[in-house]
Order: sequence, then structure tokens, then C-alpha cells
Amino acid sequence: MKIAFFEVKDWERDFLAPQFPGCTLAFHPERLDSSNLEAAAESECLSVFIYSRITAADLDRLPQLKLIVTRSTGTDHIDTAACRQRQIAVANVPHYGENTVAEHTFALILSLSRNVHKSYRHAVEGRMEMAALTGFDLKGKTLGVVGVGRIGMHVVKIARGFGMRVLAYDVRQDSFLAELLNFTYAPLEQVLAESDIITLHTPYLPATHHLLNRERLRLAKRGALLVNTARGGLVDTDALLEALQSGQLGGAGLDVLEGEELIREEHELLHSPRAAEALQALVRRSELLKMDNVVFTPHNAFNSREAMQRILETTVANVLAWQRGEELNRVV
Ligand code: NAD
Repeated sequence: MKIAFFEVKDWERDFLAPQFPGCTLAFHPERLDSSNLEAAAESECLSVFIYSRITAADLDRLPQLKLIVTRSTGTDHIDTAACRQRQIAVANVPHYGENTVAEHTFALILSLSRNVHKSYRHAVEGRMEMAALTGFDLKGKTLGVVGVGRIGMHVVKIARGFGMRVLAYDVRQDSFLAELLNFTYAPLEQVLAESDIITLHTPYLPATHHLLNRERLRLAKRGALLVNTARGGLVDTDALLEALQSGQLGGAGLDVLEGEELIREEHELLHSPRAAEALQALVRRSELLKMDNVVFTPHNAFNSREAMQRILETTVANVLAWQRGEELNRVV
């Protein structure tokens, strides 16, 4: 089988090259578009990231094509209806970093609870007043998890390991999961009122836009910490700034900011200088990031070596499954 990979970096090529014995592989660092379709003309399988747009007209120029494996979760860049008509299978990478984002959530929580970021800054500046750096134990505290899906579930597990009580709010409740992981579902108002730390893990949808607005933030326990590794638009930024300034919230750990919704897939940030620049501009403008009680990472929660590797492993598995006649992660 001939497989053409587009938008591949050197380290990805080095991993992928030995995975398909007996196949003829071609690696292209650039994206696939109508100007370089010739490079894929003989391929039965194409593997792309989101900047390669594959239209119906392109498919007509790829007569051997039987499978497209996108190394992304989204498939908007591929005309999947046209693929269906031409009986071209399409597979994606539905998830790759749930424990990765959950671990990062705790990096932010611990940074705030033990003043790691402040300690570093004070020490570098030669300031050693320990009283200003007193933190608090997680053991025995209540964590409010908003959205117990793939990432939220890992957050609950880690929190239980720290000896935290976990309250959770989700529109879908799974009583088996709650029993297994030893947490309790509660209405959002109660989660906000009783949690020492609130962490967000819902998708950003019209229904979750400003899920934490001014009124809801007022319900939080005074001095609670808020952590957001999901999407910036879940929180009203002005209301968050006010809550931090007034002490209603004691601190915030943010991996995402409102306004960066243009980023469709997290690892786009590793591929696209444009996406990274847009985020940089947003960071420069944000008042929040000037605050002493805010710890910020630039949409980096997904970014571990293992998570990036899992994207490639899933891509390999998708191709091998298709060769065996099995359906794995198939969207078409
Ligand atoms: P998921 O779909 O597995 O889980 C989401 C959970 O939210 C589900 O249990 C769902 O029922 C719940 N939910 C949906 N609407 C809700 C609502 N209105 N109120 C309460 N709960 C609601 O998703 P996931 O894989 O766990 O990802 C969660 C979020 O993390 C997503 O927004 C995703 O974009 C974000 N994310 C961020 C990074 C990063 O690097 N910062 C990386 C990956 C994912």
C-alpha cells in the first residue's frame, strides 16, 4: 500500500517510518492542497493534519485513494460526504490527552495551593518572607469538578489520591462512576458554594458560554480557587477579574483565555505559528495575567510527549485496523 503523509514534522516521520512494513511511504512537511495533489496521486492512504483541505474536486484527482487518516479530532477540513459517496474511509484521533490535561490541572492547583509560582519569583528576587508563601493542604479539602467526562474523570481520580472530597456537576450523571470513584453529584450552585477549588472540564457550547458569570461567581465560597483548563469562554472574564480583585476568589489557575476560541485543536499550537501568535497577542492584553494570585500557562495542558505520541500511535492503529478490514475510529 502507498501511504502519503502531509504536515509531518521530522520526529513524526522518524516514528512513523518503521511502522508500516511492506508499504511505500512518502513524507511531506507541507500541507496537501490542490497545488501539490500530484504528490499523492498514486496513494491509497493519506494522512493529514487540519491545514490540508480535501475537497470533492481533490478526491476526483486521487483515483487510488481508499483511506484518509487525519491526525486530528476534527474532520472539518475533509469533505466527508464526498468521501462517503466515493467509498473512501475516514478515521480520526478522537482523544489522546485526558490524563495529560488532568495532570496539568493539578500542576495549576498545586502551584496555587503551595504558592509555587510566587515562591519562585520571591526567591529569585531575594525575598525570603516565608509568611507570604504559606499554602494549604489539599487533603480534606473539597474539589468541585464541573464536567466529569474523559478529563474530569481523571481529575476526580487524582483528587481522591490526594484525599480530597469531590463534588461534581454534570448535565449527564453516571451513578456507577460516582460510586466507583467515590464522588458525589450536586447542583452547580452547591458545587460552587461548598468547593475550596473549582475546576472546569465541560466543552464550550452555546449552553456553556459564561457558565461562570458574575452571579454564579458570587455563589462561590469566599477565597476559593478557580482552575480552567477547558475553554476561556466558559468564564466571564470581567466577572473573574472582579472576583479576584475583591477576594471573592482567592486565585485562578488558567490554561485558557476567553477570545482564543479560534484555536480548533490544541496541537494546532504546535503546528501553526499563526495560532501561537494570536494567543500571544491575547496574553499581552490580558489584565488577569498581571495579578499575583493568577497562574497561567499558554494553552499547554495537552502538551506532553506522551500525548503527542498517542496521536501517532492512534494514526498507525487506524491504518493497520483498516488493512485488516476492521473499523477503528471511523467517521466515514
Ligand atoms: P468530554 O466530552 O469527555 O466531557 C465533557 C463533560 O462535560 C461530559 O461529561 C458532559 O456531559 C459535560 N457537559 C456538557 N455540557 C455540560 C453543561 N452544560 N454543564 C455541565 N456539564 C456539561 O470532554 P473532555 O475530553 O473531558 O474535554 C473537556 C474540555 O477540555 C473540552 O472543552 C476540551 O476542549 C478541553 N480540552 C482542553 C485542552 C487543553 O490543552 N487545555 C486539551 C484537551 C481538551
